[in-house]
Amino acid sequence: MDTLILSGNKAIELGAQIIKSGGIVAFPTETVYGLGACAYDSDAIAAVFAAKGRPMDNPLIVHLASGKDILSVSCGYDERYRPLIDKFMPGPLTLVVKKRADIPDCVTAGLDTVGVRIPSHAVAREFIESCAVPIAAPSANLSTKISPTSARHVYEDMNGRVPLIIDGGDCDVGIESTVLDITGDIPVILRPGAVTAEQIADVLGSVKTHEGKIVAAAPAPGMKYKHYAPVCDCVVASSISSAVEEYCRRVDEGGNPVILCKSEHIGICGDIHTIGLGSDDNEICRNIYAAMHAAEKSYDCIICEDLGDSGLLGSVMNRVNKSAGGKII
Ligand code: AMP
Ligand code: MG
Repeated sequence: MDTLILSGNKAIELGAQIIKSGGIVAFPTETVYGLGACAYDSDAIAAVFAAKGRPMDNPLIVHLASGKDILSVSCGYDERYRPLIDKFMPGPLTLVVKKRADIPDCVTAGLDTVGVRIPSHAVAREFIESCAVPIAAPSANLSTKISPTSARHVYEDMNGRVPLIIDGGDCDVGIESTVLDITGDIPVILRPGAVTAEQIADVLGSVKTHEGKIVAAAPAPGMKYKHYAPVCDCVVASSISSAVEEYCRRVDEGGNPVILCKSEHIGICGDIHTIGLGSDDNEICRNIYAAMHAAEKSYDCIICEDLGDSGLLGSVMNRVNKSAGGKII
């Protein structure tokens, strides 16, 4: 077999014709060059494995022209992953999803899942669109050889094994796609690639890496630093009466505590050290840090009354809880 290297519309037209008649074609993508066949045609898939000398237990990735085509090969995916598709597809991300029954087992190495990817490379997209079927493809190198990032690389391995190499220039990304399994409870990176664990975590909140580590989203600014905390001990009391109990316990132990509370609760506390934070929410919010500054200078423990978990006071308590390191009595 002679191997043609062509570019432009002629290459795409001929490529689509070959695919439609059950053949295989090498084509460019932004990651590496692929060796494609119709994903529904098990004979054509067998030819891909034969041309590469690839073991049958190594699944292929199914390449699609657009996001809506995911349903043409899979049973769908959890909607919580849609932001990932919006952000990284088209691009160097392969999603492993539940396969549809009409995708032959040889594409997926017998797995009930299928890897799907939408290349961003314009030539790849035009080629897949012209074929009008999903294109299953591994990298267009001989098995165990280095992946090809130019038509020339493909030719070196595949001359005489494939009728056509569509030349789309050098690959921009240059390594294979990130493979992300989204079929389980936790998304897992099966193969690291150009889309990083951190980028995925930023979209999903967290992701498990191929090494089994959990990567969490970069925290909102400020969260990764230890939050302001008073130099003295600090606890949150779930009610004003428990604040007074804690106060008495600490005094009995020789401590010098203070209660921070709503101003109207000062009277309930009796003749003990208190700092009133104010009466309305805005006032309490305005006063909280000043009260903590004052308290840490004169006392060895701040006991802050729980002010609630919603609205402005919820935000105030977010800061107080951080200062208390989550200690609630
Ligand atoms: P290649 O890009 O040539 O290495 O071939 C595709 C690669 O995608 C495979 O080697 C697997 O790492 C991965 N892959 C494709 N489909 C699946 C799947 N259903 N489950 C897990 N990994 C897959
Ligand atoms: Mg490969």
